Amino acid sequence: MDDAKELGTATRLVHDDYVAPSPFGGINVAIHHASTVTWPTVAAMRARDWKHDTGYTYGLHGTPTTFTLASRIASLEGGRHALLVPSGLAAIVLVDFAMSKTGDNLLLPDNVYNPSRDVGGSLLADLGIEARFYDPMDPASLAALVDDRTALIWLETPGSVTMEVPDVPALVAIAKARGVPTAIDNTWAAGLLFRPFDHGIDIVMHALTKYPSGGSDVLMGSVTTADEDLHQRIKAVHMKMGFGIGGDDAYLVLRGLATMQMRFERSGANGLALAAWLAGRDEVAAVLHPAHADCPGHAFWRRDFSGACGLFSAVFDERIPEERVDAMVDALRLFAIGFSWGGVHSLAVPYRMAAPGGTTRSASSWPHRGVLVRFYAGTEDARDLIDDLEQAFTRLAG
Ligand SMILES: *Cc1c(COP(=O)(O)O)cnc(C)c1O
Repeated sequence: MDDAKELGTATRLVHDDYVAPSPFGGINVAIHHASTVTWPTVAAMRARDWKHDTGYTYGLHGTPTTFTLASRIASLEGGRHALLVPSGLAAIVLVDFAMSKTGDNLLLPDNVYNPSRDVGGSLLADLGIEARFYDPMDPASLAALVDDRTALIWLETPGSVTMEVPDVPALVAIAKARGVPTAIDNTWAAGLLFRPFDHGIDIVMHALTKYPSGGSDVLMGSVTTADEDLHQRIKAVHMKMGFGIGGDDAYLVLRGLATMQMRFERSGANGLALAAWLAGRDEVAAVLHPAHADCPGHAFWRRDFSGACGLFSAVFDERIPEERVDAMVDALRLFAIGFSWGGVHSLAVPYRMAAPGGTTRSASSWPHRGVLVRFYAGTEDARDLIDDLEQAFTRLAG
């Protein structure tokens, strides 16, 4: 604005001569807050490129901050393109909607993240898309469900809450033989322990809410692919659904990613220490930690994974009533009662797996009768966490 005429206050509050300082040595990615994206000319606006991840067209569809995060996630997962959405659940729903249409069916593992099962029974069912459940530990049960209308096979490893580790190569082989694409929930491995694309999986979903954020304060999900056509197919639906993320959240996850591996290693080591302590207690009937022999699929974990995160479960002796287990969890001082894991705080949540209506399984039975508690080991000192369990376990007696 070089008009001689002086601008009004309201105009001056909007238009100034700001240009980003350059050169500038700040090491972090700038946070771009943008819904409006502008072009210097009408011709440039008309030539805008919606398709590529460097074409800035609209805040919803990406800024330098969100594209930077997307490319780091793609590289973490070993893929080529990542799409970011406002939660892990949104990433699951995006994949479901991008891959299926009325008349199709989707195959889900019986121990799938439960909100994903709910989407199958409600939103997808209303559209005439059928969710079918297979026993993740029995590849034959998957093979039996695949038909000409199977649009997608979901995998999750280990399974949510119950921690079974499936034979991923066997499941992928069935999908490939029938030409069905596969998607995996890779949240537990956090992109660090398991390489889905090396196993032939097509789509990798990750709840960035967990370890990548690491602060228990951001919700975000990602959908990563290695194939350009598949990326464009999912991206088209991403745009139509109006999914996008803000710059502040992207910044927090970028900041978390830089320290993720160190936090993850500490949390994983703490998880192993807690699991070992729990395995030595008479009150505990089974430790469902993929690194423990009690855990179904332990051998597959040894074969396919390079380590463990801090999330696992323990089943208590069936003679210990639920009220006592609840009292033990209430007595914990360092473990908070909460679901969303992956931060620095340890957590414990009892699940009613054996109670009537407590398990949501339909294709496999749950073998334990005792109360299940899901533990998440944060980054505290392992000694303190074990001391805390020790004092809380006194509530189990009586
Ligand atoms: C937390 C979680 C999700 C969902 O992530 P949100 O961001 O909380 O919606 C999906 N899958 C797994 C395995 C999770 O732990």
